[in-house]
Amino acid sequence: MAETKPMRRIAVIGSGTMGNGIAHVAALSGLEVVVYDIAEEALARGTANIARNMDRQLRSGRLEADEKTAALARIQATDDLARAVSDAELAVEAAPEDASLKYRLFAELDRLAPPGAILASNTSSISITTMGARTARPDRVIGMHFMNPVPVMRLVEVVRGLRTSGETVRAVVELATRLGKTPVEVNDFPGFVSNRILMPMINEAIFALTEGVAEAEAIDAVMRMGMNHPMGPLALADLIGLDTCLGILEVLHRELGDDRYRPAPLLRKYVAAGWLGRKSGRGFHSHE
Ligand code: NAD
Repeated sequence: MAETKPMRRIAVIGSGTMGNGIAHVAALSGLEVVVYDIAEEALARGTANIARNMDRQLRSGRLEADEKTAALARIQATDDLARAVSDAELAVEAAPEDASLKYRLFAELDRLAPPGAILASNTSSISITTMGARTARPDRVIGMHFMNPVPVMRLVEVVRGLRTSGETVRAVVELATRLGKTPVEVNDFPGFVSNRILMPMINEAIFALTEGVAEAEAIDAVMRMGMNHPMGPLALADLIGLDTCLGILEVLHRELGDDRYRPAPLLRKYVAAGWLGRKSGRGFHSHE
């Protein structure tokens, strides 16, 4: 098998919860990272959040001060997509969970990134095969599904689209390993493995709350203490972001065509009210 050169430069598209986490671990592993977002305030907040999260690792002795300084110096932020990807070997897209937005972005990334670059998506549920079909390089389009919070969680679900090449899978598996993660390969189906199984549980917890089976705290306590889950499903939904959960459930419902995936109306109502979980300060629990 041909030796591949280790990657040096990546672009991260979207400076939200996940994009910042991906930039954080990539910079710490020695990669040059350019982060792009359409919102300038997201870029400013992102850089501050990364520094704060590194401080936490510093306090717990998992990071040295000079490693933090060097890693932060490797991260650049820009609101110019062409600049972000112009010499990237891989772009990881972490924009909102909206299929038409991602399909548009992949066509744009294909136009702007070097022809040999890999285009990866951190999508939780949307079709990698369709994103690939919007480009002239479907063999180099792949899912690289990090878990939240990225610096803490070990798994990267590596999602192989119908036309993703073995070489692309190998390069992404190697990169995930270099970032200190454990890659697990899966095929492209709505929600992949992780959210095909997780989201119906979260949705069912929301139906249980709606029907008054128990209060939010009690539902979470049952799953934490009774099933040994580290977090209850409603607290986990708040961590993921309720807009993201709704986006994923809509993909499962539409693409699998089965009403068992219909999003709970209470979830829609919370998202409509702007109660998005931790990132907005309020979801099924208060995070003020
Ligand atoms: P988020 O809302 O925290 O961040 C999304 C960012 O994308 C925002 O800063 C927004 O300004 C930016 N954005 C909007 N339109 C854009 C565009 N056209 N180009 C570039 N940036 C744009 O969302 P998130 O939680 O970071 O989720 C991002 C992706 O990661 C989604 O696909 C989501 O499904 C996936 N994901 C989320 C989690 C989670 O727990 N939150 C876990 C795994 C995967």
